[in-house]
Amino acid sequence: MRVAFLGMGIMGRSMAANLVKAGHEVAVWNRSGGKDVEGARSAASPADAATGVEVVWMCLSDTKAVEGVLFDAGGVEEVLGEGMIIADSSTISPSATRRFAERVKGRGVDYVDAPMTGSKIAAESGSLIFMVGGDDAVLARLQPLFQAMGKQVFHMGETSKGQATKLVMNLQIALIYEGFAEALTLAAKLGVDVEKLLPLVQASMVRSGVVDYKAPFILKRDFSPNFPLRLMLKDIRLALDAAKESRVRLPGLEAVEEVYDVAAEEGQSDLDYAATLTLLEKWAGVEVKAATK
Ligand code: NAP
Repeated sequence: MRVAFLGMGIMGRSMAANLVKAGHEVAVWNRSGGKDVEGARSAASPADAATGVEVVWMCLSDTKAVEGVLFDAGGVEEVLGEGMIIADSSTISPSATRRFAERVKGRGVDYVDAPMTGSKIAAESGSLIFMVGGDDAVLARLQPLFQAMGKQVFHMGETSKGQATKLVMNLQIALIYEGFAEALTLAAKLGVDVEKLLPLVQASMVRSGVVDYKAPFILKRDFSPNFPLRLMLKDIRLALDAAKESRVRLPGLEAVEEVYDVAAEEGQSDLDYAATLTLLEKWAGVEVKAATK
């Protein structure tokens, strides 16, 4: 298929590379330069990338970025044509997604929200899991692209239901990781050997994919970004906004937001969200590390 891919960040660049590998004709665009993808055409603007394509796929930071790329000067809207599909794998506001979809509908364009879970490693290996909002027939047309970038697609309902689902998913990741980090901090303070603790955690009902993914990085004290803290904080805020709009109380997530706020103030925004552990460690005066043998 002819695809424009907009946003060559941690996730987008690997996703676009997997589309090229699967034989699709890809044009890529990124706000800042120097992020080309081998085998893809580097476009000068979102409109340039989207000219003559069947599908425009976005993977951008936040709601404002998506709105700008679609509707600002040089944006995708300038070259929209009947029958095109816009697919958005950024995690953004569900209500803004409905607005964007409504605006392009008048031009005969279908809009699918397709946020994903799986982080950097899954983006590289083409094994992302997508949660999607949109029409069945449109999803069927996107199947070859989903296949090139991911291993599973969950159709959650009409446009915007993918984004709503993504907020519900990341709410859980934020709370699970906070629980894990607090447990590790107390364990360190009580002198429990983390290398003995981890297999026990994963053998018990406490086990989780979050622990599987994050524990090796923690043991290496590697907090370079797989999922930057600033983006997790954005998702926590999106979930809290959606909760407020629908009069739902989320006291646990509010407490976690405070931890992330302090971490951001302390300059951790561009580190992985796993770095919030170091804040707990600082407060407790300990460091989580494997016992010396
Ligand atoms: P990232 O590495 O920070 O990349 C963000 C991308 O958005 C970059 O291409 C950036 O361009 C672009 N951008 C930011 N503001 C912009 C603006 N105003 N106009 C145009 N482009 C703009 O982020 P990522 O990790 O790839 O994540 C992308 C999206 O996927 C986010 O919504 C995130 O929440 C979601 N997500 C991430 C993960 C993960 O594990 N990383 C997993 C699932 C979902 P520049 O290069 O010029 O800054």
